[in-house]
Amino acid sequence: MRKVVKDLENIPTPLVSQDAIDSLQTIIDTKDKDFIKSDIYRGKYLKTDGSKGDAVVEKLDEIYHGKCAYCEERTSIYIEHYRPKGRVIKTNHGGYYWLCYEWTNLLPTCHECNKIGGGKADQFPVKNKHFTFEDCNTNQKLDAAKVKATYLNQHEAPFLLHPEIDEPKNFLAFEIEPNKKGILMLGLDGINGRGFSTVNICNLNRTPLLLNRLDYINDFVSNSIKKILGKYSKGSISKEIFKAEMKELFEDLDKGKADATKTFTLLRWFVMESIENFQKLVIPNLPIKEQEIVLAYFQAYKNGDL
Ligand SMILES: [Zn+2]
Repeated sequence: MRKVVKDLENIPTPLVSQDAIDSLQTIIDTKDKDFIKSDIYRGKYLKTDGSKGDAVVEKLDEIYHGKCAYCEERTSIYIEHYRPKGRVIKTNHGGYYWLCYEWTNLLPTCHECNKIGGGKADQFPVKNKHFTFEDCNTNQKLDAAKVKATYLNQHEAPFLLHPEIDEPKNFLAFEIEPNKKGILMLGLDGINGRGFSTVNICNLNRTPLLLNRLDYINDFVSNSIKKILGKYSKGSISKEIFKAEMKELFEDLDKGKADATKTFTLLRWFVMESIENFQKLVIPNLPIKEQEIVLAYFQAYKNGDL
C-alpha cells in the first residue's frame, strides 16, 4: 500500500449524474440494496464510437497507476467499496448503502485482496462504532461532508488503512519469512493495531505476495549487487569503478522507490530507508563472504560518503 492523492474536485461524471442522484434517492427511500447499480459506481458511459467505457475504473486506474490499492500489484482492477455497501460481516450493520456512489469510498483492488473467503470482501472492523445512515444526516438529509471517508474515519476509527488518508509507511514494515519462503508484511503499531489488521483483512501475507516481494529483492537488488561483485572479484573492474557502480545502483534503487508507477513501492522504500532494513532484507541473500563489504558500502552511501 502506498499513500495516494485523489482529486476530490474531479469526480467522474457518472457518479454525480442525475441518474446517480435519482438512484441514490431510491436506495435511501426504500433501503433496498438491490437498487444499487454497478454500472453507476463503475462509471459506465457511452463513448462517441458507441462502445461502452467505465469512467470510474479508468480514473482509478490512472490515479493508482493500474495497481491494487491494498497489495500494490499490477492488476485488472475491480471497484472496491472501502466501507462495504451491502453488509458488514461479524456485525448486525446492514452495510453503508448510502456510500455506494461516494468517490472517497471507491478504491481499485485486485480480485485476491477483495474476494469473499480469503480477501477483504465485507469486513470492516472499527474501534469506535459503525456509523448508520442517520449518523451521516443533518436535518434529516444526507450531509455531503459526513459521507466523506476522512470524516467517517475520524469518528469510526476503522482498523483498515485508507491509502488516501493514512500514511502506510507509519503502519507497515517487512521481514524475511522465518523459513525464508518470502517476505512478510508486518504491522508497526502492535498485534491488534491498524497495520497488522490491514494485513489480516486483505490477506497481504498470502504466498504469491510473499514470493513476489522476495523476487523483487532478489531480481532488482541482490542480483544487481552480485553482478557488480562478480566483476570486481574477477578483477575486470577496478575498486574505483566498483565503488561508482555500487553508488549508481543505490541511486537507482532510491529513484525506484519514489516512482509511483512501480509495484511494491512501500517495500522499495522500506529497503532503502535505513541501514537496519537493508541489512535485514538484502544482506542475507548475498554470499556470506561478501555481506560485510556490501553492508559497509551501503552504510557509506547512506552517510553520503560513497
Ligand atoms: Zn491486491
